[in-house]
Amino acid sequence: MPPVVVILGRQGSGKGTQAERINARYGFIHVSTGDMLRAAVQAGTQLGLKAKAVMDAGNLVGDDIIIAIVAERVGEPDIQAHGVLLDGFPRTTAQADALANILGAGGPSLAINLEVPIETVTERMLARGRGDDTAEAIARRLELYEAETAPLLAWFQNKGCLRTVDGLGTEDEVFARLADIIDETITTL
Ligand code: AMP
Repeated sequence: MPPVVVILGRQGSGKGTQAERINARYGFIHVSTGDMLRAAVQAGTQLGLKAKAVMDAGNLVGDDIIIAIVAERVGEPDIQAHGVLLDGFPRTTAQADALANILGAGGPSLAINLEVPIETVTERMLARGRGDDTAEAIARRLELYEAETAPLLAWFQNKGCLRTVDGLGTEDEVFARLADIIDETITTL
C-alpha cells in the first residue's frame, strides 16, 4: 500500500492550503470527509439527507457511516496507486481503529499535527471576517476540535507515527517543514 498520511490541524491552521501543496508535490489523493459529506448533501443522496441535520448542528456523523465511506474510497485504484492524504478522518479513536483495520499491518504511514496556537488561529479567523466567524462560534469550534483531537493525538503517538509540525511562519516555511518530515517518513517505509 502506498503512503497513507493523516493531517490534523485546527481551523485556520493553514491545513487546507498545505494539504494542496503536499498533494501537488507527492501526488497523493486528497480525501476530505467533510467535502465528501457536503457533496452528498448538495446532491441530495440518502447519505446527504442523513448527514445534513447532524452537520448543521455541528455534531459528528456516526462512525459506522463515515467508516464505510472511507473504507470504500481507500480501496479505489487511484488511492491504491498514489497514496492518500486523509483530511478530517479519523475524528474519533473508533475511526482510527477502523482505519488501522482497513489498512492492515502497516497502518497509517504518518499523522501530521499542524500546530498553530489557539490565539493565532482565532486572530486569523476574526481577520477574514466571515459571517459565521463570531468570537463565540470560533471559540466553540476550537473547543470541539480540542475535545475531538486530543484522544487522536494520543492514539497516533501510541502507534509511533505522530509528528508535530510548527505551523507558524510563511506558507513556504511551513511547507518546507512538512516536506522534510514526509521525505523522512516515506524513505523509511
Ligand atoms: P469538516 O469539513 O472536516 O470540518 O467536516 C464538516 C462536518 O462533517 C463535521 O462537522 C462533521 O459533522 C462531518 N464530518 C466530517 N468528517 C467526519 C468524520 N470523520 N466523522 C464524523 N463526522 C465527520
